[in-house]
Amino acid sequence: MALSRSHRVTMNDGNTIPVLGFGTYAPRSVPKSETVMATKVAIEVGFRHIDGAFAYENEKEVGQAIQAKIADGTVTRKDIFCTGKLWSTCHRPDLVRPALEETLKNLQLDYLDLYIIHSPISLKAMEKCKDAGLVKSIGVSNFNRRQLEMILNKTGLKYKPVCNQVECHPYLNQSKLLEFCKSKDIILVAHSALGTQRDPQWVDEKAPVLLEEPVLGAIAKKHNRSPAQIALRYQIQRGVVVLAGSRSEKEIKENFGVFEFQLTPEDIKVIDGLNRNFRYYTLNEFQEFPNYPYNDEY
Ligand code: NAP
Repeated sequence: MALSRSHRVTMNDGNTIPVLGFGTYAPRSVPKSETVMATKVAIEVGFRHIDGAFAYENEKEVGQAIQAKIADGTVTRKDIFCTGKLWSTCHRPDLVRPALEETLKNLQLDYLDLYIIHSPISLKAMEKCKDAGLVKSIGVSNFNRRQLEMILNKTGLKYKPVCNQVECHPYLNQSKLLEFCKSKDIILVAHSALGTQRDPQWVDEKAPVLLEEPVLGAIAKKHNRSPAQIALRYQIQRGVVVLAGSRSEKEIKENFGVFEFQLTPEDIKVIDGLNRNFRYYTLNEFQEFPNYPYNDEY
């Protein structure tokens, strides 16, 4: 499966999305200047898909980096695929467009390529943002199958979500959700594909460290690659668009190296075998909410 560095896949609305994205989330303890530096490095090494969110509280810094790389001629606006996420406090229909406009202002952009609902709600007000030209595509995040079906079966649905961005890695490979998404022409975007940043605000410190998984280590050794590259390549080869977060120049470069090798079908099968439905982001504190997505099997 040969994939070029600029490989994009077509979404159900005809727009395209680069298969590898740079994740801009950073824990609150991280200085905001690191987001500027890391996002610039990511664009320099070739990342063209930048995944951000209002809730990450660093949209201005991401915008600063994108603008700097446009200003110095590295990229044009059209080269960049920029994703934003509507946070849960802005779900009321009249709050959606103002929230998007704030995100656009923070990023210093006229439009987003993709706007996603960060956690389960209705799409109506988002559809209007697409009609107004403020976003090219709309999608969802952290939706389970039942919640996706609710949206897809909604009377008067104008635009199907193009993607569902969910936690996805070898310990939680989401094979059933992936199959469902594929059957509905919805792209599954993997977040936390490297096992998360282990931010103690969200992730149990006793959780297993994905990149220390010996099976990934052995496959990495065989290909003369790193476990992170194996975890990213795994997703791309199974038709998943994958995000990789990092603030280290070395890692960012390494992560963009996933187009230089391929896994064998046997490797994929072995990695599939690591699945244990283990979730880093349990969001247990939201379990009592009616839209809590993780009580269903998938
Ligand atoms: P991630 O991509 O799974 O892991 C990032 C961590 O892995 C980095 O902080 C780094 O840890 C380590 N890493 C990265 N490259 C490496 C390499 N080549 N070798 C060794 N270690 C490496 O986690 P994430 O950043 O939390 O998730 C990715 C993106 O997904 C986020 O930035 C965000 O854009 C998105 N996201 C979305 C949601 C949602 O609800 N929709 C939730 C979570 C994340 P060290 O810093 O310790 O080196």
